[in-house]
Amino acid sequence: MKDEIVIAEALDGQVRIHAARTTDIVSEARELHHCLPTSAAALGRVLTVTAIMGSDLKNADEKTTSIFNGHGPAGTVLATADGAGNVKGFIANPNVYSVRTDGHLAVGDAIGTDGTLTVIRDMGLKEPFSGTVNLQTGEVGEDYAYYFTLSEQKPSVVSVGVLVDQNGGIRGAGGLIFQMIPYASEEAISACEQIVTKMRPVSALIDEGKTPEEIIKLYFPDADILEHKEIRWYCGCSHDHFKEALATLKDSDLQEMIDDGKGAEITCQYCSTKYVFTSEELEEVLKSKHGA
Ligand code: ZN
Repeated sequence: MKDEIVIAEALDGQVRIHAARTTDIVSEARELHHCLPTSAAALGRVLTVTAIMGSDLKNADEKTTSIFNGHGPAGTVLATADGAGNVKGFIANPNVYSVRTDGHLAVGDAIGTDGTLTVIRDMGLKEPFSGTVNLQTGEVGEDYAYYFTLSEQKPSVVSVGVLVDQNGGIRGAGGLIFQMIPYASEEAISACEQIVTKMRPVSALIDEGKTPEEIIKLYFPDADILEHKEIRWYCGCSHDHFKEALATLKDSDLQEMIDDGKGAEITCQYCSTKYVFTSEELEEVLKSKHGA
């Protein structure tokens, strides 16, 4: 089974539904960042909702980015997705492993609540749109629900989860979001409220082998399935990309790196790939800045 997002409509078009399987993306993220379970769950939840938001972008080169800054032990958690289904992200501290008294991973404590969730939507040429809300619980799902309601005026239910096994591997990861259209009928609203009371953790459903479409049909048997979209972990960084980034440094900083003769090493914060630049390359960068 592959990671994917399924988009659907139900209740006479009054509710729009997204369901995602993100087990492979979260597994890749966990391995690249060497995450302990609570950090893996925190990063995985943010990657999952960001991937779902990316599935609504119209063009492949548009991007959406989520940044959690809750001042908890996990530090900043950031994820970004584009309109082509590529998703990547990182967590400042991958070494958090804390468990709540009920046995669940303490994601809310790891992210913290003393801060904000910022969502940036970059549509290419126009100014990026950005919205910020205060964190509610740090559990991610509730924070996004609050963001969608407040910042995008879309009352939403957000269920997102990552099931981590005892060895730290990812057993299942996914998300289910449903959003009411403006002026939805009382019947549609109360039908959704009924569904919320019956919902099971989406990560457990994925772990049982249910597809995103099956998860939607479980709660909305009459849903119209509109689209299936493939999603994947993809960084896209390269030696050239970081060489261009070096050119944004100050001349004096570049000169200092050239003078010490050790070259430069840059690690991609998304995928941990290391790129090494020789002193000669640094000289090239410095020269190219001045059109030589
Ligand atoms: Zn990278």
